Amino acid sequence: MNSSLNAARRLWELGEARADVVDVLVVGLGATGAGAALDAASRGLSVAAVDAHDLAFGTSRWSSKLIHGGLRYLASGQVGVAWESAVERDALLRFTAPHLVSAHPYLLPLTPAVPRPAATTVMAGYRLGDALRAAAGTPRRLLPGPSRIGAERALTLAPALRADGLRGALLSWDGRVVDDARLVVALARTAAAHGARILTRCRALTLAGDGARVRDELTGEEFDIRARAVINATGVWAGGLTPSVALRPSRGTHLVLRPGALGALRAGLHVPIPGERARFVLVLPQADGRVYAGLTDEPLDGPIPDVPEAPESDVAFLLDVLGTALDRPLSRADVAAAFAGLRPLVDTAGAPDSAGGPTADLSRRHAVLRSPDGVVTVVGGKLTTYRRMAEDAVDAACPHARASRTARLPLVGAGPVRPGAPGRLARRYGSEAWALRELMREDPALAEPVALGVTRAELVWAVRHEGALDAADLLDRRTRIGLVPEDRAAALSAAEAALAYS
Ligand SMILES: Cc1cc2nc3c(=O)[nH]c(=O)nc-3n(C[C@H](O)[C@H](O)[C@H](O)COP(=O)(O)OP(=O)(O)OC[C@H]3O[C@@H](n4cnc5c(N)ncnc54)[C@H](O)[C@@H]3O)c2cc1C
Repeated sequence: MNSSLNAARRLWELGEARADVVDVLVVGLGATGAGAALDAASRGLSVAAVDAHDLAFGTSRWSSKLIHGGLRYLASGQVGVAWESAVERDALLRFTAPHLVSAHPYLLPLTPAVPRPAATTVMAGYRLGDALRAAAGTPRRLLPGPSRIGAERALTLAPALRADGLRGALLSWDGRVVDDARLVVALARTAAAHGARILTRCRALTLAGDGARVRDELTGEEFDIRARAVINATGVWAGGLTPSVALRPSRGTHLVLRPGALGALRAGLHVPIPGERARFVLVLPQADGRVYAGLTDEPLDGPIPDVPEAPESDVAFLLDVLGTALDRPLSRADVAAAFAGLRPLVDTAGAPDSAGGPTADLSRRHAVLRSPDGVVTVVGGKLTTYRRMAEDAVDAACPHARASRTARLPLVGAGPVRPGAPGRLARRYGSEAWALRELMREDPALAEPVALGVTRAELVWAVRHEGALDAADLLDRRTRIGLVPEDRAAALSAAEAALAYS
């Protein structure tokens, strides 16, 4: 079946979903829900999957974009979580999304704030992480091992580091996805190619074991979707639909630094947070020139907003930590924007940390919970482990289904890239980069850049094939232009024009 998602297909499949009884209804189309839709559809089950907003509207677009081997879980003794992360990272790097996920280098600068014994301990942890890499089957050529480098090389990779007192750096490698929202789009489209009905702008109002009451947010119409099994994958909002699910959301803020704010940065940075053991601020250079720096871990009380805000106190904290390692301290003027996401951490009732301890200490292991009415909720975990979360949820919801196939199932775009496809497009579209190039060849006006190297062709492609229904879908999720308000304003008219190509 075709993987293209668009307004016409949505309308058609919405009608079908209302008429049929599907095997599985998935609620929420972040990485977990889109992964569950793919897992179920590729086992041959009939699937409807709804999201109140858009693909990747929730936490899945606010991550650090690390596909990580779980090193920090080793530090806290969570060996099982670390192993699961290393295995899932391997699947993404080698089989399912090699076009979107690749290795990236990180430096931990050895400043006077990092005493020699601490550096030795961190290096031992990196070596353990490298052993997990090898055990998971990831070859060194895809993910190089750690090493110690001298100050001169560290400054070549990160010229913004303070040279004074720098003894060198620890160089390590981990996986990274080019754009978390693009991973979700690839999952949803691959699910659609296996027959899943992917329905955005459909809000579940109530859930039961045999379906959901749903509202089409475009028309206001309410209707039922009937299903033999229901999976609640609404992340930090899960408790709103299934009250027995207890979460302790935690806010993580990233800064978006202006291109050039840290010079020609060729590696990410781990900047130690003063007074904390094994916690760092990450500096993450992006392919579009922007640099993300994050992140905080603050418990959030009260209602869950649709789009969380990054408070100025988080911005100041991150700038302060960065200042400890940089030659020129950054100022507020270097910050083009900030964004925040909410971690859907499971409140482990009865555990000592459920009574108000730091959210940074809560387990990142996911949970699959069955409520008395039969709804299966899958929550917690992380982007890296979305596939395993999806598999566990479908196993629980459909115990008689055949086994999961997703560990080796390539996502849309994972095929070979034809020579001649522009590098930037190849990194975001994989084997589909060629089709975008053809689009620009047929209509040269579509080759015109909109912002950050994004062309009009990419916006048109998103309308025709990636389920973008409005300008916000285009600017905030299919591309990330909208992260910086000025860039968003400059690109708005191009996004509106692209919608006419549906
Ligand atoms: C700041 C931050 C950084 C992170 N960095 C990393 C990282 O680098 N690497 C990593 O592996 N993990 C990372 N994580 C964790 C990871 O991002 C999340 O665990 C993951 O994205 C959660 O995905 P999800 O699909 O479960 O939830 P979401 O992505 O939140 O998806 C839930 C969806 O449900 C929809 N929804 C809500 N209510 C309804 C309703 N009533 N009806 C229909 N739909 C509804 C929402 O619109 C949303 O699209 C990070 C998390 C945070 C907060």
